[in-house]
Amino acid sequence: MAQQEDQFKKIVSHAKEYGFVFPSSDIYDGLSAVYDYGQNGVELKNNIKRYWWESMTLMHDNIVGIDSAIFMHPTIWKASGHVDAFNDPLIDNRDSKKRYRADVLIEDELAKIEDKIEKEVTKAAKRFGDSFNETLYRETNPRVLEYKSKYNALHERFAQAMSDNNLEELRQIIIDCEIVCPISGTRNWTEVRQFNLMFKTEMGSTADGAMSVYLRPETAQGIFVNFLNVQKTGRMRIPFGIAQIGKAFRNEIVARQFIFRMREFEQMEMQFFVRPGEELEWFKKWKETRMKWHKALGMGDQKYRYHDHEKLAHYANAATDIEFEMPFGFKEVEGIHSRTNFDLSQHEKFCGKKIQYFDPELGESYTPYVIETSIGVDRMFLTVLASSYEEQKLENGEVRTVLHLPAQLAPVKVAVMPLVKKDGLPEKAQEIVNTLKFNFATQYDEKDSIGKRYRRQDAIGTPFCITVDHQTLDDNTVTLRHRDSMQQERVNISDIESIIDKEVSLSKLLKTLV
Ligand code: ATP
Repeated sequence: MAQQEDQFKKIVSHAKEYGFVFPSSDIYDGLSAVYDYGQNGVELKNNIKRYWWESMTLMHDNIVGIDSAIFMHPTIWKASGHVDAFNDPLIDNRDSKKRYRADVLIEDELAKIEDKIEKEVTKAAKRFGDSFNETLYRETNPRVLEYKSKYNALHERFAQAMSDNNLEELRQIIIDCEIVCPISGTRNWTEVRQFNLMFKTEMGSTADGAMSVYLRPETAQGIFVNFLNVQKTGRMRIPFGIAQIGKAFRNEIVARQFIFRMREFEQMEMQFFVRPGEELEWFKKWKETRMKWHKALGMGDQKYRYHDHEKLAHYANAATDIEFEMPFGFKEVEGIHSRTNFDLSQHEKFCGKKIQYFDPELGESYTPYVIETSIGVDRMFLTVLASSYEEQKLENGEVRTVLHLPAQLAPVKVAVMPLVKKDGLPEKAQEIVNTLKFNFATQYDEKDSIGKRYRRQDAIGTPFCITVDHQTLDDNTVTLRHRDSMQQERVNISDIESIIDKEVSLSKLLKTLV
């Protein structure tokens, strides 16, 4: 665990050192849980967004995009349930004065019990070797069974308290489990209170009668309230989807883990409108489609898992998370939810206008059902960064820090370097840059030794480096270096473009999704 924390700290400082992610307002010592993306970060982020956007809008002729405003009519958040129920239960420790989410403290406790079970199983697997029957062991070992029943009892009590919105019971669970504050080590807890996560502000001058508005906590509502606009103007026929990428804001109680939980973040959401009764079929389809999208990046299939929700929100009839193995454990990156016709019906009720679809095949009108896929750009960014970072020990004893980014997402695709800064090599290198730059993000670098320049590109995840030397002037060949293998090959300048394109092309990646 300590090793993983250490690794995570290194990733955070690497992200800053190499222009990926800076703390917001850095020269003023930062603003909690708000971050800025630097010169390399913005490119990586844009590439992630492009991959998502094109996988939705280019690959599906029945999915279109929109870009709705961050400010929306405040009644929207009444209708969606956010004003009344977008709350987290919070609790303070009186000694450390630190604030926690009561549900997260209990979830951590549950995870600890799970860890104990896994430890028992790993220990036994080692002890029994090849003859180990894991299923049997899990079903019969008394210690494992004891942990399991403890887990189940706690889980049930917790789920009940959450669904009853019973704040006293949540506190009692924390007391009964003897959960201590990680800072003070004490159990001196306050009451549990509900805390609404929406940021509120005023719109218009007070003289005109200002109106309280919210910074949207999700992009989805912008899609729901535009359902009729898009359906009618785009002559969309069900089933169809509307995709959107945009900022969302949540006043998170415990903002930690870098860009995993931010107060200002970006979401990529798609609402897919279907016939009532067909939603579970579509839910299954989108669950698979989205997992395929993640895995196509080649960051390791074993790093993903589904987490199906047992306890569903009152409006949902199925929900799952796609979790990714972060340096701090498996965590949600994306949610896929079957939201029934809840949102459209609520808006219909609150705005007083009919929000229905006339299905020409069925010859009837209905309120469409919705499958939503919702992924955080920043969390996705973190999965890419965390799984790419490596401090690689080389044969000569040196260590190189390399980002094995999926080549299609890398901020810089190719760096072109003259071996020395004279003899016409810089000019030749510039010539190559001037042909490549129209297709690929290309960087020219002539400063420092070639070894140092390679390291700099490794650190930002550039898949290819091209070195121009004296031989280039004679025969138009260059050295092409591959980031992951560090292998170098001599290639003709005229072949460079196709070699690079094969690896970095987004359209080739999209074709693997079909
Ligand atoms: P969590 O349980 O981690 O708070 P959530 O279930 O509330 O997340 P959703 O409301 O389903 O999240 O939002 C969809 C996606 O938006 C999440 O899967 C995540 O990738 C992203 N997201 C949500 N909250 C944040 C945040 N505070 N910072 C960064 N990304 C976020």
